[in-house]
Amino acid sequence: MTASAPAESTFLTLITGAGRGIGAATARLLARQGHDLALNYRSDRASAEALAEELRALGRRVEIIQADVGDPAQVAALFDAVDRRLGRLTGLVNNAGIVAPSASLDGLTPERLRRMFEVNVFSVIHCTQQAQARMSTRHGGAGGAIVNVSSRAAQRGSANLYSDYAASKAAVDALTLSLGHELIAHGIRMNGVRPGVIDTDIHADSRPAEELPALLAATAQGIPIGRLGQASEIAEAIAWLLSPAASYTVGAMLDVAGGR
Ligand code: NAP
Repeated sequence: MTASAPAESTFLTLITGAGRGIGAATARLLARQGHDLALNYRSDRASAEALAEELRALGRRVEIIQADVGDPAQVAALFDAVDRRLGRLTGLVNNAGIVAPSASLDGLTPERLRRMFEVNVFSVIHCTQQAQARMSTRHGGAGGAIVNVSSRAAQRGSANLYSDYAASKAAVDALTLSLGHELIAHGIRMNGVRPGVIDTDIHADSRPAEELPALLAATAQGIPIGRLGQASEIAEAIAWLLSPAASYTVGAMLDVAGGR
């Protein structure tokens, strides 16, 4: 018996920053739900390739595509590669995001701020522009759905830790509202999720490794549910917002934060 190529799915979704954490958990769930996937990664090709192999074994069409989504030229090349290698996009998850070492106001340097907003905010605009060009029913597309990954920090702030990150995520919330209302006239539903504190590797980029376990344990005690969230629990919310089950949900933010 010869192996046949996987059948094309109705859903083709691009996830930015998909190699690990919330992006990877979302890829796993969407693959189980029948999505073909474009997995964007920035630097860790090995993790992205291992994930792609895992998801291809489920019978899905999966491609990994390197791009720094903070750079609009690389974003354009990313979407061109999706067109060439997979076909017509139906979904986008603007997931890639960064923090930076904990800092108070005087540590928020111009270089740090520029990078934080390029990756966390400008990427959402640039990726959504590319998605709109392909999905818009006004441009001959078939519509689609977009989910932005914000943070509860947008509303809670993050004093002496990363107020720039909190501000960048507040910008994502505002974009979700504005663009959500704008894009629905193009047949595109945009919504967002605000995760609470989720057990991923991102926290190691803001706190010293030796302090991290105790800090996260103390944080967990302050969350009404009494624990950190799992990436898979955020993936469930993203997958629902992407799905036709959320057909009347537009420009909304969904808190997935254990009550925090
Ligand atoms: P993570 O484990 O650090 O993963 C982030 C991923 O984003 C990495 O795979 C990284 O790729 C990718 N990435 C970073 N900069 C990129 C760029 N310029 N271009 C393309 N990809 C880039 O983080 P996470 O916890 O899963 O976070 C995912 C999203 O959830 C972020 O937007 C984050 O702000 C948000 N969030 C997380 C939490 C939390 O507690 N974990 C809470 C609220 C919101 P490479 O490894 O290939 O470089």
